[in-house]
Parts: sequence; structure tokens; C-alpha cells
Amino acid sequence: MPPELFTTDIRGQMIILGTGTSVGVPMVGCGCEICRSTNPRNSRTRCSAILGLPEGNLLIDTSPDLRYQLLREQIGLVHAVVYTHEHADHIFGLDDLRLMQFRLKGPVPLYCEPAVEARIRKSYDYAFQSPPDLHAGAVPQLRFNRIGLEPFDVLGARVTPIRLKHGKRFDVLGFRVGNIAYCTDVNAIPSESMDRLRGLDVLLLDALRPRGHATHFSLEQAVEMARELAPRQTYFTHMSHELEHDATNALLPPGMALAFDGLKIALE
Ligand SMILES: [Zn+2]
Ligand SMILES: [Zn+2]
Ligand SMILES: [Zn+2]
Repeated sequence: MPPELFTTDIRGQMIILGTGTSVGVPMVGCGCEICRSTNPRNSRTRCSAILGLPEGNLLIDTSPDLRYQLLREQIGLVHAVVYTHEHADHIFGLDDLRLMQFRLKGPVPLYCEPAVEARIRKSYDYAFQSPPDLHAGAVPQLRFNRIGLEPFDVLGARVTPIRLKHGKRFDVLGFRVGNIAYCTDVNAIPSESMDRLRGLDVLLLDALRPRGHATHFSLEQAVEMARELAPRQTYFTHMSHELEHDATNALLPPGMALAFDGLKIALE
């Protein structure tokens, strides 16, 4: 008999799996106070989140820390994945989806734009050879579903993509489900996207560090954007080792806080 599946029921919740920038916090080889902090909230794996939707668990991005994140939250099932963009810190945990094809009894559905699909097909070419190499569990079995800016239905929920700028020439997607929106890897929000971010209960928003950056909001820019969009609560994510959790939170306006790995948010 195969071993029993061990998985937490996360329906009705969004769990923030990782809140760190591309190198994570602590950063390898860094002796700064935040990287050496004993406060667990200063420990940030690479950015990702998972939504417990009515018909299953929807993962946002497959970070290089995916395996550890799922173990930490005791989540044994991913029913589908939606991608924000194709940067390495958002896709390179994809091979760990191999376990899911057995539990789903079929390929794992991936929802992404064409550029993300092209990157995944190139980076994971061994998963797309025919006939597939070796035994069934050796390669991830994946099924692409193309998305654009049209809202789409997945696992019993409607997901609205939101166009975001991640640097001048690079477009990525944020996502809104009900009154929660997840917008990471962004340094500008086009006006038509602003309209999709009104009336939110919770906004997750990129805030890399105090200083400016070419492809991410600084903390100050993110606070300004949160003021403009005025959700009930904003959590900042994709943070570097320049933001100490407690000290930064003490300075933030009401209704704004740094997210942390393991943060749970109720879906309406
Ligand atoms: Zn990133
Ligand atoms: Zn550091
Ligand atoms: Zn990125």
C-alpha cells in the first residue's frame, strides 16, 4: 500500500510561502545584523504564495525554496500553478512538482504567459522530450494553459491577471482573487491596472529595500502606492536584507506591514 497522503487543508486561506528577494535572507556570506538575526521573521525564502481555493491549492510561482516551503507548511498537494514571470527566483523549484503528477493522476496544470512557457520549455527541456526519458517519476509532467489579461477560472475561483512593470522593458503579472491581490516584482503599475486594484481588503506588494532600484519598488515607493490604492491592509514582500522586520514595522503607517514567511491571510 502506498503511504498515506499527509496534507493540511488550507481552503479559505492564502499562505505566504516566501518573502525574500532573489538571493533570499539571510544572504549567503553576509555578516550584517539582519542576516545574522535570530528573529525568524528576518529569515526570508524566495517569493511565493499558495491559495486554498474551493477545488484545490493554487500555487503562485515555483521558487527555488518550494520543497522546503511545502514541508514547512505541511502542504502535500499542489493542484495548479500560476506564474508571475520567468525570472529564476520564481521558476527554479519547478522540478519539485514531480510528486504532484501522481497525486493528481495526471500532468500539473501551469497557467502562464507565452514568455514564461518558452523559458520553462527551454530550462526544463528534459520534461518535454518524446518519448519521455526514464520512468514516469523522473521528469515533471506539465500541461500549459496560456493566460493574458482576461480573467480566468481555476479550481473554483476567478483569477484576474494584472499587468505590472518590472523595469522599463519587462512586463509581468500580478493576480487578484476576490479582494486579495498579489503584486510582486514590480516598480510601476500602469493606470489600467490601477483600476483592477481598487477596493481591496489585502494587497501584497513588492518593497525591495529602502534605496531605489531599477526593477523593484523601494519601501518608500511601495508605501506611496499603497496609500494611493488604499486597501484595508498592505503587506510588503520580495524584501532584501536591508529591512529589519520589527524596526521597519514600527515605522510603517497603520494598515501597512512587512509580510513574513508563513503569514496566513483569510480569503473572503
Ligand atoms: Zn523576484
Ligand atoms: Zn545581510
Ligand atoms: Zn523578477
